[in-house]
Amino acid sequence: MANPVTAPARPGRLVVLSAPSGAGKTTLVKALRAADPLLGFSVSYTTRPARPGEVDGRDYFFVEPGLFTGMVGHGEFLEHAEVFGHRYGTSRAQVQAALDRGQNLLLEIDWQGAQQVRANAPDCVSVFILPPSRAELERRLRGRGTDSEAVIQRRLGQALDDMAHWSEFDHVIVNDRLDEAVSALREIVAGRGERWSTRNPEARDQATAIGGAPPA
Ligand code: ADP
Ligand code: 5GP
Repeated sequence: MANPVTAPARPGRLVVLSAPSGAGKTTLVKALRAADPLLGFSVSYTTRPARPGEVDGRDYFFVEPGLFTGMVGHGEFLEHAEVFGHRYGTSRAQVQAALDRGQNLLLEIDWQGAQQVRANAPDCVSVFILPPSRAELERRLRGRGTDSEAVIQRRLGQALDDMAHWSEFDHVIVNDRLDEAVSALREIVAGRGERWSTRNPEARDQATAIGGAPPA
């Protein structure tokens, strides 16, 4: 029999967040975590080098490609994908431990990884973040100031392609005003996200205007 003291009342909710680069996902996640300190965050593994200010074990686990390949071989990732020429993966053990504790857990991953998580964990809640417009996306990519012009151009082109995947997600949020986007995310994490459902005509129209029409 399960121990009635330590067994969680319900398993945690897995929340998958994706966005094109520059939409403000990192900023949004930081604000969301400040507003909801109990929300868990999955620290991904990546083969990309750390950016200035990033801390190993906090922002990512920065690993050599050989180690990453070994982890793939041992089935250690719930999902993994290549993005901008680097590999990224979500630790299966980290996710399981959080959900077993009854903790809601946020995965900040790309749309390819989100597809894999939806297939492996159908109970997950998936959210796509859009910028208010394509012009604002470009402005934010430049404003971040951490990437070279060549990288910005590549990310912008990729971001426009990525945005076409919004309709695969359960919910879609436009990150215009940060506080409103954080409130929307908190509602979704709490299971009250109907307003931002990709089945809601109003949300669909807004997302279509920015990210393009969903496939017929
Ligand atoms: P991502 O993680 O999606 O690539 P960032 O969080 O790094 O994006 O944000 C890109 C830039 O846009 C940053 O300079 C950030 O300060 C800015 N930004 C993010 N969200 C907003 C917002 N709601 N309004 C205005 N600027 C924003
Ligand atoms: P960045 O290198 O700018 O932090 O992230 C680049 C992209 O990789 C973003 O779209 C981010 O969501 C994605 N990403 C980060 N971690 C993971 C992960 O564990 N799996 C997948 N599939 N994508 C990830």
